[in-house]
Amino acid sequence: MTDSATGTESGQEAFRDSLAIVSQEGKRRWIFPKKPEGRFHRARVVASAILLLVLFGTPFLKVDHHPFMLFDVMHRKLILFGTMFGPHDFYLVGLALITLIVFIILFTVIFGRLFCGWICPQTVFMEMVFRKIDYWIEGDHRAQRRLHLAPWNGDKILRKGTKYVLYVALSFVIANTLLAYIVGIDELWKLVNDPPARHLAAFGAVAGFSVLFTWIFLWFREQACILVCPYGRLQGVLLDANSVVIAYDHVRGEPRGKLRRGRERTDGDCIDCRQCVDVCPTGIDIRNGTQLECVNCTACIDACDIIMDRIQKPRGLIRYASARAIAERIGFRWTGRVTGYTVVLVLLSGLLTFLLIQRTPLDATILRTPGMLFQEQTDGRISNVYDLKVLNKTFDDVPLNVKLLSPEGELRLAAGPLHVAAQGVAETKVLIFLAPSQIRALSTPLTLGLYADTVLVEQLHTSFLGPVRRP
Ligand code: SF4
Ligand code: SF4
Repeated sequence: MTDSATGTESGQEAFRDSLAIVSQEGKRRWIFPKKPEGRFHRARVVASAILLLVLFGTPFLKVDHHPFMLFDVMHRKLILFGTMFGPHDFYLVGLALITLIVFIILFTVIFGRLFCGWICPQTVFMEMVFRKIDYWIEGDHRAQRRLHLAPWNGDKILRKGTKYVLYVALSFVIANTLLAYIVGIDELWKLVNDPPARHLAAFGAVAGFSVLFTWIFLWFREQACILVCPYGRLQGVLLDANSVVIAYDHVRGEPRGKLRRGRERTDGDCIDCRQCVDVCPTGIDIRNGTQLECVNCTACIDACDIIMDRIQKPRGLIRYASARAIAERIGFRWTGRVTGYTVVLVLLSGLLTFLLIQRTPLDATILRTPGMLFQEQTDGRISNVYDLKVLNKTFDDVPLNVKLLSPEGELRLAAGPLHVAAQGVAETKVLIFLAPSQIRALSTPLTLGLYADTVLVEQLHTSFLGPVRRP
């Protein structure tokens, strides 16, 4: 019996019992993938170059002398696209994270691990930066394997030594870039120029992360995707037969059979050359079907397309396709699960957009001081006391004044005009005096205006308590 998702015969599932990166003896099996080439690889090189440019260039971008992006977790300060978000915006950050998670789920349900192959920093750095160093210094996969097994001699020490130095240097640059996202490029520049003893914590963090990155890219490598990555672990529940993944067309390819000179070919299109296995950075055979180890790097598509060109068969024996599309020879299907996720995503995105539009640079609240009713003044007017609290979400200090807009009366700020520091909170007592003629009921509505210089920035509404007038 054939498994429709994989095209493998029952009983040929032994590949599921072992990991390509672990030997029979339980030891690490090093993967030396063949150097990838082809149209998908070229497109990924361009995409990776753009991503790396964005990653390393963003800390240098500024808007009005402030960072374009900053993740200052120590001071609970977040700057996204030049807009400051503080602890008071936690609900927005939480909602944005939930929206992002739903987006990732929806995206994965439809397009599988497209993110892993094209955007994930681990894949971009591993395949497009560090693995390129391996090819440059140690040669292609066979030369790398030979060097790995060779005894330590002058050539091996020179090649491995050069490689290690480059790995450490690049890891140091990555660690500094991450620190720039946390403290800002100006502060990083200061840290770099000051003696390390003055900034031991920052220096320790950079040193620690440099060691961590070197270890990940030099030793841990594909295990990060196969054993650790939580997104990879989720694939089992997110993917279904309709998800577009990198798949082997078993209907067209099987039964596989080697090319033999002088023999008329009656097999499927797969000539069992194993080029797709040789290029795989996680060491799997995609012909066994979708596997959690596959990071959608597209290397096997390119490798197989090159073979198909050579044997004059159509490209795409390995391609982006769903298991169902391959088995039933159909196109993409919109499923109930995709509809459900889309509805949730649209609702969350709508709510997030609404809240972002509603977000004001200043947040003010005015409440009558607890325990206080009203006071009758000697001039016959009635007064109420309020607590005014203003939160400044901007980068700049803001001088503020408050005026009573309606009804007619007098407003006094207990401590004079307010001065709210950038990202700070200011509180003051407000006294409001109304003539008895303005008091229409037990509770009279009031409208106050919050002014920055002469500009009305916010209107506040509250109520005024007064004596009940007898007819
Ligand atoms: S590269 Fe293509 S033809 Fe060669 S083994 Fe893989 S699937 Fe078959
Ligand atoms: S199976 Fe293909 S796409 Fe998946 S990791 Fe291996 S080479 Fe990359």
